[in-house]
Amino acid sequence: MSYEFDLFVIGAGSGGVRAARFAAGFGAKVAVAESRYLGGTCVNVGCVPKKFLVYGAHFADDFEQASGFGWSSGEPAFDWPILIANKNREIQRLNGIYRNLLVNSGVTLLEGHAKLLGPHEVEINGQRHSAKHILIATGGWPQVPDIPGKELAITSNEAFFLEQLPKRVLVVGGGYIAVEFASIFHGLGAETSLLYRKDLFLRGFDGAVRKHLKEELEKKGLDLQFNTDIARIERQADGSLLATLKDGRELATDCVFYATGRRPMLDNLGLENTGVELNDKGFIQVNEQFATSEPSILALGDVIGRVQLTPVALAEGMAVARRLFKPEEYRTLDYSLIPTAVFSLPNIATVGLSEEQAREEGYEVKVFESRFRPMKLTLTESQERTLMKLVVDGKTDKVLGCHMVGPESGEIVQGLAVALKAGATKRIFDETLGIHPTAAEEFVTMRTPVGS
Ligand code: FAD
Ligand code: NDP
Repeated sequence: MSYEFDLFVIGAGSGGVRAARFAAGFGAKVAVAESRYLGGTCVNVGCVPKKFLVYGAHFADDFEQASGFGWSSGEPAFDWPILIANKNREIQRLNGIYRNLLVNSGVTLLEGHAKLLGPHEVEINGQRHSAKHILIATGGWPQVPDIPGKELAITSNEAFFLEQLPKRVLVVGGGYIAVEFASIFHGLGAETSLLYRKDLFLRGFDGAVRKHLKEELEKKGLDLQFNTDIARIERQADGSLLATLKDGRELATDCVFYATGRRPMLDNLGLENTGVELNDKGFIQVNEQFATSEPSILALGDVIGRVQLTPVALAEGMAVARRLFKPEEYRTLDYSLIPTAVFSLPNIATVGLSEEQAREEGYEVKVFESRFRPMKLTLTESQERTLMKLVVDGKTDKVLGCHMVGPESGEIVQGLAVALKAGATKRIFDETLGIHPTAAEEFVTMRTPVGS
């Protein structure tokens, strides 16, 4: 049977664009459907605009610290509409770059909502298209718990387009987005509280990292309320909001921002016309090679709910393109040692096992830890401290995990991820010379295990 396309990709986000471009580069006839924005979540309402807001929020610290180096200027003032307008302009530029990338690689771009009609058929803008393979790369969407007044809350999708910075914000959740946006709102001057349902946020991260970040955020004046959850939200006569907590307390605010996880984007996708199955968490079930239970349909990225990070979606996209159109270069994707950063202020970055995971996995764990006041801050009033931590296998000397809370930790840990991928031992870290004076050199100068 002949088809109009070799590959039809639904979703021009991180994973879909990567798969489409590489497949076209391998000689396949490819179409991509996109209903909302080129570049997907990361470019439009994720990594990129988020990082701009984090940069913006950090200026609050920069202005304060500058006086320690002799600088003085007027009282700093912040203008949210300027930041948002500049961010929007840059995102528009990136949308154009994505369009050119696709078109120049020979991919047919179809703008509209795509719906599956069968294992080889997709409908978009009233037109039917057939394809030998279909790739679902539709990403995710914020999920807000079903509480009375949930329609009064916003999520990250709306936060990027608020017309004004709210005076008071309640951030709900304890994952990446909650912690990052709490830092953004607080840094930009909103009176911010973060409410998390259990006793310490960032579940899954190293315990020392979670505790260190808690202390640092509290030092900055961010209000952290753990073991707290909202029962309902109501609009007050003056337009403000009132959140009633499960313990009966009431908090007045101007904005309730929910960051309580993301669901797969499957709305009106037509999965019922195919044999695609979902896993027990509601994400699309795929095998090691990203095939769904419908042989002609594959899926990747946030919609399969494995690791919801852009570099992972990119790697999955590349793997799919190779498996379908360049099988001689296909290798099973290795999900171990994925480095990641949380762009809170201060940043967290990590690669490998936490101390808790290493112990659970039965390693004889040695821990090396360093806490210090970064050199740049010693001339300032700031009492912010950096944490660096290595988790080492006592038997083989292999470094199992590197963790940092501090300025530019993502930039530092990216390099360490290469060392861990190469199987570096603590001895190799010790034999590596530092770059002086940097914070990063601390990672190669920690000599005594904690507790020794
Ligand atoms: P997406 O990028 O979400 O792309 C899916 C695309 O499919 C979308 O453009 C959507 O419009 C389109 N689509 C959906 N349904 C249809 C349909 N039926 N027809 C046509 N088109 C459709 N990751 C990081 O690595 N670092 C970060 O700093 C980071 N920050 C983040 C901050 C926030 C606030 C959020 C929400 C996420 C962040 N992420 C970050 C995660 C990252 O954005 C995602 O993991 C990544 O975008 C997933 O890529 P994807 O290709 O699976 O889906
Ligand atoms: P996460 O899964 O990271 O965190 C969700 C948080 O919400 C958890 O603390 C969870 O608590 C809490 N939660 C879940 N359900 C409820 C509920 N019903 N009521 C109260 N609290 C609830 O999701 P995010 O939305 O923060 O981010 C989604 C994903 O996007 C991240 O996991 C990450 O993969 C990606 N991302 C990556 C970034 C980066 O790389 N820097 C930045 C932003 C997002 P509990 O811990 O108890 O389950």
